[in-house]
Amino acid sequence: MPDFILYNSLTREEQTIQLIQPGHLRFYSCGPTVYSYAHIGNFRTFLTADLVVRTAEALGWQVTYVTNITDVGHLTDDDHADALGEDKMAKALRSKEGELFANVWDLARFYTDAFVEEWEQLNLRKPFVRPRATEHMREQIEAIQTLIKTGHAYETPDAVYFSVPSFKAYGQLSGNTRADALEEGVRDVVKDTNKQDPRDFALWKKDDKHLMQWFSPWGWGFPGWHLECSVMAMKYLGETFDIHGGGEDLAFPHHECEIAQSEALTGKPFANYWVHTRFLQVEGQKMSKSLGNFYRVKDLVAPNAEGGKGFDPLALRLSLLSGHYGKPFNFTIQNLKDAAKIVRRYQDAWDLVEGILHSDKPSGTDFLGKRLNENYDAILLAMTQNLNTPEALAKAHAGQKMIQGALSGMGKEAAKQASKWFQKVNALLGFIRRERTLQETNDTTDAEVEVAQALAQLIDTARSQKDFARADAIRTDLLQKGFEVRTTKEGSKVTKKIS
Ligand code: AMP
Ligand code: ZN
Repeated sequence: MPDFILYNSLTREEQTIQLIQPGHLRFYSCGPTVYSYAHIGNFRTFLTADLVVRTAEALGWQVTYVTNITDVGHLTDDDHADALGEDKMAKALRSKEGELFANVWDLARFYTDAFVEEWEQLNLRKPFVRPRATEHMREQIEAIQTLIKTGHAYETPDAVYFSVPSFKAYGQLSGNTRADALEEGVRDVVKDTNKQDPRDFALWKKDDKHLMQWFSPWGWGFPGWHLECSVMAMKYLGETFDIHGGGEDLAFPHHECEIAQSEALTGKPFANYWVHTRFLQVEGQKMSKSLGNFYRVKDLVAPNAEGGKGFDPLALRLSLLSGHYGKPFNFTIQNLKDAAKIVRRYQDAWDLVEGILHSDKPSGTDFLGKRLNENYDAILLAMTQNLNTPEALAKAHAGQKMIQGALSGMGKEAAKQASKWFQKVNALLGFIRRERTLQETNDTTDAEVEVAQALAQLIDTARSQKDFARADAIRTDLLQKGFEVRTTKEGSKVTKKIS
């Protein structure tokens, strides 16, 4: 198997992934803020994460993939500075679209469901767990308490801040260290004059009027956006894990702050490799509502009768795959139309191959297997070289042509090889057929049970690593949340206790 090489934004070079636990990748990727439907730029970033997962699986690795839902605390000004601003969720509720919802929780639930449905339509791998910020409040409060105790955080009348000067390595990911430059960034917004350093960022905002609020040692309020990813990543993946991903805009401040909080908490490295996806543009311009070039997935894939453009979501996936994640991508409707034709061609050829397999045609000879295996190896190699999707697709198209050209004289032996090739290429690149039906994926149990089941699996991981203290701690946590934990032949399982 080839090495898996990725460009690590932390070291600014391509590196061979050396897993903490050989054969087992632990991976966290930032998910959406569920204040509206996700757009195709968001999904470009989620697709990169999916390709990390699929490439690792093709290499035979076990993958623990965690991606969150941000449903509180992401402020309108958070993206360029730690400032004031308004919670994106609250703002959405006051908007025209927000009038459809009873309250902010209802709005969050609606857009989370819509997001998961689009995720499935684009054939993105189901994560091991999809934790929500609002369901990890205790962990966030405890992390803040520890940071205050260890001198990394302080309270003001308005908030609790992380003290950036207390963490010497701040700026290692983004190169952004200068206090005066950051001051510049927040100049237009009202500042908390009690902040000790302009770079300090909020861990907790005191606000007893906020639509989503929790009681904490600092009164009613809600957590800062950066904190959720630190605590949820460490909860499900351990204090140090392998890869962390997100869009390029997240490197600063979000990921820089995640590193600072996490490493201040544990004294250990947080993530070893950082993968950032460059932004998607539309028809050569920044995607924006005012330019009329803003596409949500829904706009492109919903049937015409529902106001969409009726494209196959897998064509959108292929279109997004055609650009390398490390370069800005110019999405065009023409590119999407071309992709739709290509996807159809693959699907038709695969159907014909299956037809031969289930026909009474003679076996014939296997004249394809060796060449198709070599072709698949070349596709996989391209993916292991920093997810080189343009190269992988060029190879895949050559393989598909090889099969297409051989269809007329194909017997069952060759068809078996062709079918295997389609399956393997689809498992790696995912644009030919959806692997699970929407029906199956929508049958998932409620989020709380899903998270509990994921935790139960972590008990087994901890036990296999002889970390019995951690296994017990997870078990106690589950019991406190009202779950029974059973040991079965397939490992630990949970059931919700009916009270
Ligand atoms: P948000 O819902 O704003 O929290 O963003 C979810 C993810 O989408 C983050 O990883 C962002 O960096 C990413 N993202 C936002 N806009 C784009 C874009 N135009 N192209 C690629 N990724 C994006
Ligand atoms: Zn995040």
